[in-house]
Amino acid sequence: MLGKKDPARAPDQPAVLGPKEHGIDPQLVSTNAVRVTQTLQEAGFKAFLVGGAVRDLLLGIKPKDFDIATNATPEQVKRLFRRAFIIGRRFQIVHVMFGQDLLEVTTFRGASVDEAPKDAHGRVLRDNTFGEQHEDAERRDFTINAMYYDPATQTVLDYHDGIADIRSKTLRVIGIPEARYREDPVRLLRVVRFAAKLGFDIAPETRAPIAVMAPLINNVPASRVFDEALKLLLSGHALACLQRLRQEGLHHGLLPLLDVVLEQPLGEKFVRLALDSTDLRVREGKPVSPGFLFAALLWHQVVEKWNAYQASGEPPIPALHLAADDVLTAQTDKLALQRRIASDMRDIWALQPRFDRRTGKSPYKLLENPRLRAGYDFLLLRCASGEIDSEIGEWWTDFMAADGAGREELLASKPKGEGDGPKKRARRRSPRTRQKAAAPNEGGQ
Ligand code: ATP
Ligand code: MG
Repeated sequence: MLGKKDPARAPDQPAVLGPKEHGIDPQLVSTNAVRVTQTLQEAGFKAFLVGGAVRDLLLGIKPKDFDIATNATPEQVKRLFRRAFIIGRRFQIVHVMFGQDLLEVTTFRGASVDEAPKDAHGRVLRDNTFGEQHEDAERRDFTINAMYYDPATQTVLDYHDGIADIRSKTLRVIGIPEARYREDPVRLLRVVRFAAKLGFDIAPETRAPIAVMAPLINNVPASRVFDEALKLLLSGHALACLQRLRQEGLHHGLLPLLDVVLEQPLGEKFVRLALDSTDLRVREGKPVSPGFLFAALLWHQVVEKWNAYQASGEPPIPALHLAADDVLTAQTDKLALQRRIASDMRDIWALQPRFDRRTGKSPYKLLENPRLRAGYDFLLLRCASGEIDSEIGEWWTDFMAADGAGREELLASKPKGEGDGPKKRARRRSPRTRQKAAAPNEGGQ
């Protein structure tokens, strides 16, 4: 039967599937990816699309990026393309650029991690040895991520019965799951991301060790955890991923951020709305700013501290800055929030009290602020979640859209120094109004 392991097949021999069997639509393959494989093949090398792109093609989804695997060394790859750069992080890869389009070309990696340097917990620190294609396949994380597609012959090479797992919607680690998680605990997070994103079941052997091995994540450098957490949050299925993390027992102590997010009753609705709108934007192909996302995820922690500082006598704006400092310091230690992201977060938070000032010149000044749009989107989330009255969001929507006269009129509707007036009745803060304000966004998940 198709996809079942053929006992006659040697372990280093793949199942080879033709177009009728795999059903990949060649139209979904980017022309630049084909240019790269073709150039490499014409120079006498092997070259295939690999990993997520092949998985997505098999699922009939247009891949968002294309990775290429080859037996050419990074130096050999670089020589074949006009704009190609060797990137030497954990593994050496080559970035090939065509205009804005970036393709990652990786040399087949060797299989043996036995001799590779490891930390005290068994995590592989470095391995940059090159190898054969079947070894490269064995090094990959899941069976569905270890298939190779040659656009020239339209064949799929499947070393680990990935096609069967695609069909049965199963996420399965290649090899012994415990060993693979130990080598690289980030794979624990990847299980959750792919299961949630693809709607796949996790194979029992792949799933069983997850909760026990979760603490291994603590030994991974914060920057790598951050990269993977960001992929999870920007997967278009952030909410499902976070729910799944909790379900797998991976949220505790995994990331202080996620603890906060998943366990704060106060901000739950706000976070849900923020993630819903992020997921929607990602799925519509719109850009998402990590700063905005993290600002939202941590907002209620800021609010809590903001209130506490005000209660102890700080005026609102300095109190907000103190609260932001506290939250950012705590998170940057553990999460390696990049400085640029942290400064975006601070800007978005700092704008919030400024939306309260709706008289005199203040609103005009705010219109010139380069971060207005992000701050305003954030304000709308606060309204939708019932944290603040929706009237304030509506006022800003009107004010931003209005012409000069319209703006004056809106300003005149606010008495000097108060920021409120004739519309006072509309700004009631009864629990009912709050619920109503948030209702249209309910049931998003
Ligand atoms: P996405 O579409 O979300 O980018 P992807 O499968 O392409 O999914 P990447 O993180 O871009 O995920 O990784 C590309 C490929 O590299 C994977 O498909 C997998 O084969 C391999 N890979 C990535 N990370 C690991 C890892 N930690 N361990 C083993 N293999 C990995
Ligand atoms: Mg990818």
